[in-house]
Amino acid sequence: MGLVVQKYGGSSVADAEGIKRVAKRVIEAKKNGHQVVVVVSAMGDTTDELIDLAGEVSPVTSGREFDMLLTAGERISMALLAMAIKSLGHEAQSFTGSQAGVITDSVHNKARIIDVTPGRIQTALDEGNIAIVAGFQGVSQDKKDITTLGRGGSDTTAVALAAALNAEVCEIYTDVDGVFTADPRVVKKARKIDWISFEDMLELASSGSKVLLHRCVEYARRYNIPIHVRSSFSGLRGTWVSNQPQGDQPMEQALISGVAHDTSEAKITVVGVPDKPGEAAKIFRAIADAELNIDMVVQNVSAASTGLTDISFTLPKTDGRRAIEALERAKAGIGFDSLRYDDQIAKISLVGAGMKTNPGVTATFFEALSGAGVNIELISTSEIRISVVTRKDDVNEAVRAVHTAFGLDSESDEAVVYGGTGR
Ligand code: ADP
Ligand code: ASP
Ligand code: MG
Repeated sequence: MGLVVQKYGGSSVADAEGIKRVAKRVIEAKKNGHQVVVVVSAMGDTTDELIDLAGEVSPVTSGREFDMLLTAGERISMALLAMAIKSLGHEAQSFTGSQAGVITDSVHNKARIIDVTPGRIQTALDEGNIAIVAGFQGVSQDKKDITTLGRGGSDTTAVALAAALNAEVCEIYTDVDGVFTADPRVVKKARKIDWISFEDMLELASSGSKVLLHRCVEYARRYNIPIHVRSSFSGLRGTWVSNQPQGDQPMEQALISGVAHDTSEAKITVVGVPDKPGEAAKIFRAIADAELNIDMVVQNVSAASTGLTDISFTLPKTDGRRAIEALERAKAGIGFDSLRYDDQIAKISLVGAGMKTNPGVTATFFEALSGAGVNIELISTSEIRISVVTRKDDVNEAVRAVHTAFGLDSESDEAVVYGGTGR
């Protein structure tokens, strides 16, 4: 029996009962003969509460001190879980990200893991302990400051440790039974997927299916670590995410893997841009120099009478203010009229490798949206994904309509959501 890494999300360790339930589950794996490393998230919505608290004392909710604050959430759960395990008669030791050897770059609030040196974890395991690691955090290589990996980053901690420790599998325990064809909080008839490729999972994750973080899937693909996403509240088998289906996992890759939605982005429109070479370059250089990532871009046809055009793009809402400031600073050099900011948008994406070879997918997608009376504002595509931006108020209806149109609705089961607040 080899080593397993198990990661428990915030909803699985939301209260004392949850922590005791997880403790029993971890001990079960140990009793089955595995060496067990557990990665924990902060309890329930602790991270959001800490962010709100920070906002009450300071307008600056970013940087070094903000990371110090947020990592406290995971430290609470790691210590409580170790205590719960010990009280059931088993040996456990908890470690911060830094103690566990999670080395990152020094970009606070969204640091990247650059190395994992899990010497202390290996020693703890060799001495018969269950090792508990605080997720979502590391220590920067150059300054030795505490960093966080971005929201949902405990998933990445788990896969990075699984890779460094040569684990058999990385199990991600959450509040639903696996990866579904849509968010079960929105689509009751969503189906659980038994197996999904890294590629399709990457697209779903980067399109907003927060059940797995896209950086975690990227990492798992690079090191070829199979992920098993499952519920900590049920004993059911969940979803395997891997290169190839293994054992009794189904061989068929679905035409369409699922529908994802994302309400975390905003749209900025640069109004009245002179329609001449170099203007778009100047706009996106200003954004890049502010170290901001953008998602979708669209340029409208220019009005013949004025020679002016509008350029719209989307980016995470959390970067909205900085993007507006960067563009205002560059305004004289670019020469546009004004900026419009809209955070009442949603992105809906259809993902599936089968899309490449099947005509009509785009038509069906757009027909489903128009049937639901949903207006499309922006469109972008990749080989295995189509995304549109719509009004935020339309998102649930749009997701359900697209899910039904592609025959993804389950005839029998209703998807179960065991916990969490969906925050
Ligand atoms: P955790 O606290 O365990 O990390 P998250 O809230 O980050 O949990 O992720 C689990 C949630 O992801 C589910 O409760 C569900 O609402 C949401 N979700 C979004 N898309 C999907 C999907 N395609 N399949 C399953 N869950 C999804
Ligand atoms: N607690 C952190 C968050 O809420 C990290 C995680 O849960 O993965 O984003
Ligand atoms: Mg998560």
